[in-house]
Amino acid sequence: MAQGGRSARVWLFDLDNTLHDADRHIFPHFNRSMTAYLQAHLGLDQAGADRLRMRYWQRYGATLTGLIRHHGTDPRHFLWHTHQFPSLDAMVLRRRGLRHALARLPGRKVVFSNAPAHYSRAVLEILKIADLFEDIFTIEHARFRPKPDSYGFYRIFRRKRLDSRRCIMVEDSLQNLRTAKRLGMGTVWVGPADKRPSYVDVAVPSVLRLSRELHRLRGFSG
Ligand SMILES: [Mg+2]
Repeated sequence: MAQGGRSARVWLFDLDNTLHDADRHIFPHFNRSMTAYLQAHLGLDQAGADRLRMRYWQRYGATLTGLIRHHGTDPRHFLWHTHQFPSLDAMVLRRRGLRHALARLPGRKVVFSNAPAHYSRAVLEILKIADLFEDIFTIEHARFRPKPDSYGFYRIFRRKRLDSRRCIMVEDSLQNLRTAKRLGMGTVWVGPADKRPSYVDVAVPSVLRLSRELHRLRGFSG
């Protein structure tokens, strides 16, 4: 949904731990699912599966990348089976005022997540904000090359004909913001202001505070 008339600003929002808190329920469940997947498909015991999951995560930034590279895992099969949440509705924590805070931000809005499409859409529906985004880019769109790889960023720029200098990435992950800055984007970190690195333009404790910091992102207003 285009907003703001003359404004050419485009917001790219990460999903997990940016638009909602995934640490409490979602990530622990996700980690258990990944370990179970490694046990089932690589014939490992639980401790071995846990170790391998962590090793790939540390080495590649994503367990999936290690599985594709070393085991020929089908990424769609992996993502489908590890992103099954029997009670997603109860696990997604919705912050009061989120919809209002996003709706009042001038500019186009897009989601850019390392998660798969079926999960991302379900979370946005539960948060009741899906209609605020004109597009949702997920790991499938990046051909399973997760952020901070610049590949997915370039795919979005090309697909939507975006000028990166008019885009602002909103993220909890610093590595992803480092890539965004290198590509010329504005960067907003959902994290502590006193730990803000130089490649982060603005730090906010929560996306609910974004509109208050708009003046500090003036250069990206289009
Ligand atoms: Mg995140």
